[in-house]
Amino acid sequence: MAAHVTVIGGGIVGVCSAAFLLRQGFAVTLIEAGEIGEGTSFGNAGNISPGSVVPYLIPGILREAPKWLLDKEGPLVVRPSYFLNVLPWFIAAAKEAKVENALKTSRAMRELHRGTFDAYAELTRGTEAEALIDRCGQLHVSEREGYAKGSELSQFMREAAGIKVIAINGDEVREAEPTLAPIYKSGLLLPDNGRVKNPHQLCTILAKEAEKAGATIVRGKVTSFLTDGKHVQSLVVNDLLMPVDRLVIAAGVGSRKLAKALGIEVPLEAERGYHITVMDSNVMPKVTVTNRDLAFACAPMNMGLRVAGTAEFAGVDSEPNWERTELLKRQAVRMFPMLKLENVTRWAGDRPSFPDGLPALGAAPGYDNAYFAFGNGHFGITGGPVMGKHIAEIVAGKKPGIDVTPYRPSRFLGS
Ligand SMILES: Cc1cc2nc3c(=O)[nH]c(=O)nc-3n(C[C@H](O)[C@H](O)[C@H](O)COP(=O)(O)OP(=O)(O)OC[C@H]3O[C@@H](n4cnc5c(N)ncnc54)[C@H](O)[C@@H]3O)c2cc1C
Repeated sequence: MAAHVTVIGGGIVGVCSAAFLLRQGFAVTLIEAGEIGEGTSFGNAGNISPGSVVPYLIPGILREAPKWLLDKEGPLVVRPSYFLNVLPWFIAAAKEAKVENALKTSRAMRELHRGTFDAYAELTRGTEAEALIDRCGQLHVSEREGYAKGSELSQFMREAAGIKVIAINGDEVREAEPTLAPIYKSGLLLPDNGRVKNPHQLCTILAKEAEKAGATIVRGKVTSFLTDGKHVQSLVVNDLLMPVDRLVIAAGVGSRKLAKALGIEVPLEAERGYHITVMDSNVMPKVTVTNRDLAFACAPMNMGLRVAGTAEFAGVDSEPNWERTELLKRQAVRMFPMLKLENVTRWAGDRPSFPDGLPALGAAPGYDNAYFAFGNGHFGITGGPVMGKHIAEIVAGKKPGIDVTPYRPSRFLGS
């Protein structure tokens, strides 16, 4: 009989993990507390960005961040009541904004994400999801001359990783995307990046395919584990004990509580983002356009134009601040003056973010049958399939296709 793996979490990382575990010959059970793909994987901007190798935490950020924090309309928000809770995370994150750390993170991002389109192709080939993946490139724009290409360090990182980019001026921005307001003075084309046209559909199709291939999907919230301190024997879901052979925690922001239930503290924060999706928008850019000045993305999706952004630290259980979506509306109209905002939905979701900007991928510290696959922050749609591929290799006891040292979960324990 095939060895069995239980995966907790039916977001992009969990469904990709289940799919690759099946390919490694395991029997798989996927447990999801809500509906498949309705966590953070539902409402993101859908960017698939293997060519994005500039971490958020680079030296310049420490100059920009206070300015953003003071600006009510800026992209970074900390809810005052949550400030002291998140302070240790910010202190840890600030340490990453050194040149040598940023270069290390950049290399680790590239190493993890470089195979993302191939991994998606492996999972979607011959399925309805194949048409959702589009390697169409991305466009970044700025109202500032020369700003879209980023700092010298950013340019160095892209060059070092061999990433193709094309810096363009205001006229070329308008030529690339004529529906943009004529206010942009610089742009950057990233031809190696792309998008998913509907991240929720992608998750549900991949989960259905996994089911067809033999996976069992269980609805329920995992609340605790039975362990002997180094081996997980069973888990509690829907007040029932379910035996565990091997376990993968891929529960997005929910992973922190699950890791804690195993006795492992991880510095995972909920970095909340918001979106509006505009149906009958009257405007549909050819590729996703990222506003570099205000850090939000305008993504052409199969259900409408999605405008997504904001990094709000307010705690995972706090109420959304819907004023953020009103702001996105105003900012989107400034960017696309012909945009019609008559038929709009709104959404908020929490990015699972570690202070060093990298995910946790590998064995749960101290355990011989539990594994972590979470913490992809701003890059979970990009990272989902490669996280799945490598965690399946690790669980199978094989050497993963990449050096996974930078993502080892034990790094938070100081080892
Ligand atoms: C506004 C915004 C824009 C973004 N844009 C992009 C982008 O363009 N490109 C990109 O690459 N990334 C983007 N991201 C990030 C990306 O969406 C996330 O990194 C990714 O969706 C995380 O996937 P996940 O599977 O780890 O988590 P989730 O999608 O949240 O899935 C985790 C699942 O686990 C379940 N769960 C949690 N706890 C339990 C439990 N105890 N028992 C059972 N189930 C449980 C939850 O219900 C959930 O369904 C964006 C995020 C936001 C907020």
